[in-house]
Amino acid sequence: MSAEILLSVSGLHKAFGGLIAVNQMQFDVHKGEILGLLGPNGSGKTTVMNLISGALPPNEGKVVLAGRDITSLPAHTISHAGIARTFQLVRILPDLDCIENIEAGLAFRPGPLWGDAAKLAARALLDRIGLADHAHTPAGDLTYIDQKRLELGRALALQPKLLLLDEWLAGLNPSELQEGIALVRKLKSEGLTIIMVEHVMDAIRSLCDRCVVMNTGTKIADGTPETVLADPEVIRAYLGD
Ligand code: ADP
Repeated sequence: MSAEILLSVSGLHKAFGGLIAVNQMQFDVHKGEILGLLGPNGSGKTTVMNLISGALPPNEGKVVLAGRDITSLPAHTISHAGIARTFQLVRILPDLDCIENIEAGLAFRPGPLWGDAAKLAARALLDRIGLADHAHTPAGDLTYIDQKRLELGRALALQPKLLLLDEWLAGLNPSELQEGIALVRKLKSEGLTIIMVEHVMDAIRSLCDRCVVMNTGTKIADGTPETVLADPEVIRAYLGD
């Protein structure tokens, strides 16, 4: 692929005591692509996301965003540099309404927005994520897919260059899944670059331009969804061989 590299991860290593969770990971993410980060449970995917977003420092290796070395910077600095994430467990503020939830995100971006400017921007964001009719609904009263939309909205409020989705499509019913896939596709069409940790095969096949597959901390495949999902080593890893 000739597109510009937005994120480059090299020699990334993280151990917890004697357990090597991430071992010499290396991959690039090109501007505008959706990269799937796959692998069986415990293979190190969330740890890689934590190392990229600054939730954890690596023992070794480098993370470079748009030419800037962001390795081991604090999470808020990395967020200002342009990386936002969602979490496996939805982290919204259940007692606040949707506008207020988005406003809380807007207050953390570089050039924070407050007051009327924040309200206007929050409404535009709710429209973008399909929650325009829920501006004043308390987040805790939203359906599950709408809570997920809202969490995505809070991440988008940071105006990221790179969005990290950690099993964002997990737990949705079949029709919600199609809505979720459509929303991620729309974000890509708007030019956003995305890394998604995902197990839902339909989503991987229909959304990912490329997939990196991990097993026991190590990269075992890198290629199109069709190629990696047909790779015997990947199939063995998923079957727990
Ligand atoms: P995945 O996201 O692919 O399921 P993780 O990155 O969560 O994998 O975990 C990789 C390995 O690291 C697992 O063996 C897990 O138990 C271990 N691990 C993850 N986080 C920690 C931690 N904070 N302390 C100790 N071990 C951890």
